[in-house]
Amino acid sequence: MDVLAADLLPWLNVAQNRLREAAAAQRLPHSLLVLSTPGLGAESLAHWASGFALCEASEKPCGKCSSCILLRVDSHPDLHVVRIEEDAHQIKIDQVRDLIEALALKSYRGGYRVGLIEGAETLNTHSANAFLKTLEEPPQKTLLIMIAKPNHRLPATIASRCLKINLRVPSLDIARNWLTEKSGQKRDWLSALTLTGGAPLPALDLDMPQIAALETDMRECITQLTVNALDITLLAERWLKSQLGLRIAWLENWITGQIRGNVEPVGLPQALLKAKIRALFELQDALREFRRFASTSMNQQLALETLLLGGRAAFAA
Ligand SMILES: [Zn+2]
Repeated sequence: MDVLAADLLPWLNVAQNRLREAAAAQRLPHSLLVLSTPGLGAESLAHWASGFALCEASEKPCGKCSSCILLRVDSHPDLHVVRIEEDAHQIKIDQVRDLIEALALKSYRGGYRVGLIEGAETLNTHSANAFLKTLEEPPQKTLLIMIAKPNHRLPATIASRCLKINLRVPSLDIARNWLTEKSGQKRDWLSALTLTGGAPLPALDLDMPQIAALETDMRECITQLTVNALDITLLAERWLKSQLGLRIAWLENWITGQIRGNVEPVGLPQALLKAKIRALFELQDALREFRRFASTSMNQQLALETLLLGGRAAFAA
């Protein structure tokens, strides 16, 4: 990954400046916990921070020194990256042990050693606690960076020993300007950003025909659900296989619109209106809950079926 990629994502500037200031004051921490929803470039920030520790020039990271070049081709011997292996549900304890061992060894290039853990929210308590000693008594010149979702359940003993960096969704203006510049297309980016929860990176990959197709398909699903014409199990399977995140986001937006629309008097008797709105609110809560815990450890098929059953009841109300 490009060590300078974070420089091109303007919403990361605040976090970069925070680290620069800490380093200037000789307070660069031993461990960082980057909290971010997907699509904000947390990995780019983590690689930039690695470059900050590993770069051998005075203006760090320079992108040009031997260390930065090694980082750019993913071959720096003092950067140890851990992420979930293919088909695994969580980071394995052996991966964690290997990392701890690597960080205890001498640095190859005589400078920092950096450990980077992507998807740290999938560390189980046992694996996370293996780090405790490394965090309590960090070896000289080591930097441990963990990237986790904001709803992580890392033990407080671990999280509290890290400098926390919260990445937030950029303002609509910043996101829109970045997308227009990056894609060279002046188009309405709002619909894409709405589906990605405001995250610019995945919005870049969503073209207008794709958005329109999703819109049509989702409206059809709702109609069919309402008249009880769909097999919930099959529908859940289909959603799980294709664009689940976008579908959940679309549904959340649609429900918000429905609630807003139904608050206006529409001629429904008061009691019916109340019941309908309550059902929609309940569905909205269920969707949020689903999104929050849509991790690999959850039985997604079952959770989605429950959600869709709730949806059927709410739409029929
Ligand atoms: Zn450099």
